[in-house]
Amino acid sequence: MGLSTVLKNYVNGQWQESSTTEFLEVINPATVEVLGKVPLSSASDVNQAVEAAQQAFTTWRRVPAGDRIQYLFRLKTLLEENLDDLATTITMECGKTLAESKGEMRRAIENVEVACGIPMLMQGYNSEDIARGIDEFMIRQPLGVVGIICPFNFPGMIPFWFIPYAIACGNTCIIKPSEKVPLTLQKIMHLIEQTGLPAGVLNLVNGAKDVVDTMLEHPVIRAISFVGSTPVAKYVYSRAAATGKRAQCQGGAKNPVIVLPDADIATTTRIMADSAFGCAGQRCLAASVAITVGEAKKTFTEAIADVAQTRKVGYGLEAGVQMGPVITAESQSRIEALIQKGVEEGAKPLVDGRTPKISNYENGYFVRPTILQNVDPLGEIAKTEIFGPVLSLIHLETIEDAIALINQGQYGNMACLFTSSGAAARKFRYEAEAGNIGINIGVAAPMAFFPFSGWKDSFFGDLHGQGQHAVEFFTQTKVVVERWHDWTRQF
Ligand code: NAD
Repeated sequence: MGLSTVLKNYVNGQWQESSTTEFLEVINPATVEVLGKVPLSSASDVNQAVEAAQQAFTTWRRVPAGDRIQYLFRLKTLLEENLDDLATTITMECGKTLAESKGEMRRAIENVEVACGIPMLMQGYNSEDIARGIDEFMIRQPLGVVGIICPFNFPGMIPFWFIPYAIACGNTCIIKPSEKVPLTLQKIMHLIEQTGLPAGVLNLVNGAKDVVDTMLEHPVIRAISFVGSTPVAKYVYSRAAATGKRAQCQGGAKNPVIVLPDADIATTTRIMADSAFGCAGQRCLAASVAITVGEAKKTFTEAIADVAQTRKVGYGLEAGVQMGPVITAESQSRIEALIQKGVEEGAKPLVDGRTPKISNYENGYFVRPTILQNVDPLGEIAKTEIFGPVLSLIHLETIEDAIALINQGQYGNMACLFTSSGAAARKFRYEAEAGNIGINIGVAAPMAFFPFSGWKDSFFGDLHGQGQHAVEFFTQTKVVVERWHDWTRQF
């Protein structure tokens, strides 16, 4: 596949052109080079994919789980063999550094590995003799056709929070990548094709809102897995509920990190810089507010300002680059406007990354690391998801005040604490209202065998992506009560 081509959909085991006449350019955010054109597929493209998935389900659900996972073993090998190429594609369309893209693909592969355990993970349970001569058992069955909708910031990893579990559990799928970064999934789909996965089990439909809306309204689709911003997550969750679908919708975030005076400041600073500025802050688990307590104010502020100033920003494919661009020119303007808003609210731009000059990439969508000091804890900037390389600093006198501030927040994706006190760590773990907690960890991203556990406005639903939650989400329980009376004998 050449990168400058018009992308195709993959439906019923065939690569096919969308019926749409609307296309978007896929742009490398560092070089501003056009990488390809993505179709904004129509309702009829989605309907065709659902029909193929519905047809495939009748046979796929009968394939034993032990046979279904053989395709995942093959996929794991293909992903390993093509990791460098996939990582390069992620960097080209999404902007993160090559090391970050490789790390992303490792996380994708972990999910494939975990889903290879489905024959055990989807087992039910049973009770013999719940009444005399009567047995009862619970079995897990696949749902049918499920829909997966992805955001722009992890084009390689996020599809894998869902695909391996959904298909290994016996479902068939329609997946839509973000229209901003559709190339990585296109390449992954070519690898999936090489595994010999039967036609119709996994279908790729490129596009934007129309594809999502058609999926939400389609009566055959039984479940929706969504990852993206909070307003769209809320919308998808409410439409899915209205049309009787099961839904798991992961939304936005504003992740706070408390730094206590007893933290190891050098280590904390290194980890915090990676968390706030890694992937140019476009991570749903990026640290965005650092709350310093007591003496940590002075030591941490000086150290983080130094690291932010010296971070090497550029094209992620070049050696030594530590941070790439943000995704679009609109994102760049939005982030710069939010920095200005923070300044107007009284914050001091300790390090100001607006309108940077990145040599050789003057047209790229860059914002350098930015640190806002003395951010008003009750102001807009302390609450709004910036989704860029901007760290806000707030100072409070006690851990109790810091936890109270965190718990007032709208979001609950991640909260972290840096300390050398076990008692403080336990208090924080116990009281902080977030679904992913880090103790001396900057990006508390759960491994594939744990659920990705956002709370509050960071998640709408009950069962999260990854691990056992994914198995429960992609199966429905059936309880069977059985009596096999032996008429020749008395019990
Ligand atoms: P987005 O909400 O703009 O888009 C996500 C998906 O929804 C895309 O596929 C897009 O085509 C579709 N979409 C966009 N607008 C829509 C609409 N009005 N109706 C129907 N569908 C629509 O999100 P994004 O900008 O691609 O991703 C960044 C956001 O995702 C951030 O808020 C980030 O925090 C969040 N995110 C959350 C997690 C998590 O696990 N909680 C992980 C990654 C990203």
